[in-house]
Amino acid sequence: MGHRSLHPQGNRTSRLSDSRPNDEAHANATRLVEAGRRKQWCSVPGQPGSVVNPPIWRASTHLYETADDLAKGRPNANGHFYYGRRGGPTQWALADALTELEQDAEGTELFPSGVAAIAATLLALLKPGDELLVCDNAYEPTRNIANGLLAGYGITHRAFDPLDVDGFAAMIGPNTKVVMLESPGSLTMEISDIPALAAIAREKGVISVIDNTWAGPLGFPALVHGCDVTLMSLTKHVGGHSDLMMGAVSARAPQLAQIRRHAQMLGQVVSPDDAALALRGLRTLELRLKRTSATALEVARWLSTRPEISAVLCPQLEGTPGHDLWRRDFSGGCGLFSFVLAGGADKKARARLLDALDLFGIGFSWGGYESLALPIDPASLHTLRPWPPGIDEGSGLGLRLAIGLEDADDLIRDLDRGLAAMRES
Ligand SMILES: *Cc1c(COP(=O)(O)O)cnc(C)c1O
Repeated sequence: MGHRSLHPQGNRTSRLSDSRPNDEAHANATRLVEAGRRKQWCSVPGQPGSVVNPPIWRASTHLYETADDLAKGRPNANGHFYYGRRGGPTQWALADALTELEQDAEGTELFPSGVAAIAATLLALLKPGDELLVCDNAYEPTRNIANGLLAGYGITHRAFDPLDVDGFAAMIGPNTKVVMLESPGSLTMEISDIPALAAIAREKGVISVIDNTWAGPLGFPALVHGCDVTLMSLTKHVGGHSDLMMGAVSARAPQLAQIRRHAQMLGQVVSPDDAALALRGLRTLELRLKRTSATALEVARWLSTRPEISAVLCPQLEGTPGHDLWRRDFSGGCGLFSFVLAGGADKKARARLLDALDLFGIGFSWGGYESLALPIDPASLHTLRPWPPGIDEGSGLGLRLAIGLEDADDLIRDLDRGLAAMRES
């Protein structure tokens, strides 16, 4: 696991390359501290490396010294200030930090949201007549992009069962160009064999894209596992404080160039203020993930002992389907998981549970410092395979929990109160 960083012009040197060997392997915690902090960006004018963080450079316009200078001003790489739409040092520092964390990535493009990252990636990699295969447990807006946006450009798609590796191989046809993967699945949390799916895709010349928001590069180095493109919503763990929206795509060289070109044609840019917030979040990412995944496991274990609950969908929990694959392929998790209420609980009962919660906010998103709960209906989510096994349409209402940084016992007491409220009719 070599630590590497991408120099603006493509030479690989790290911020500390003067004082340390270039390829020294560092643990994640250290990489998170060092990532993206190049001397030339962490500077006040004339004093490279004189501040810890890259300043917030607000700039639309580059002033060129001469007409000749302007003519030379076109190189399309991070580190070359050309015009604000291609970002400046604050955004480059974030993009570079993410590239350093994403083993095997050539570079990273930033987008104003995770959904913008997914849409731009698929538009970049597909053209009219092409087919996209989408895992049946994909994030709902991803399916909407396939149905609503790509269909209008003559790009077709089909859903595949992400737990059926042979079935996936058999579905790939002459027009299949891209496969969209996600593991664990959104809301239902089943783990699929990404290395096997990505290997089949590569063998058949299909580009594999993974929405890796759940584990991120620390928990699942997606390119090392065979994917070509990995993306995530930085709104979640990297931001970490529920105060920004952003997305990122990291990719191998050929796909990166394609995605960068499309991002620029689509006019995608993030603000330097948001980039600085995301960089701040990044520094504590490992600490927060360790804490929230440990708390989530404690809460999941407690929930699995409760008679009101028929299934806990948490890849980190021993005995859950997919746990063995999670152990094989992932080096970490996070605080996000779901559970299914035992038969008999109706929507009113679930609403009583939600309304009785004090520490869990009711809302979308996750990866913040605060815990959230969201009602989900797992029985109606999949088109190919009911999940969890045995779930029927019309029963099996569920909840998704995003565990934050609160104390585990306090959260468990809160849920206990919620379950008590649910039992009252
Ligand atoms: C939230 C989320 C996204 C979208 O991210 P935004 O920043 O909210 O647009 C994409 N994928 C997954 C798995 C998510 O949970």
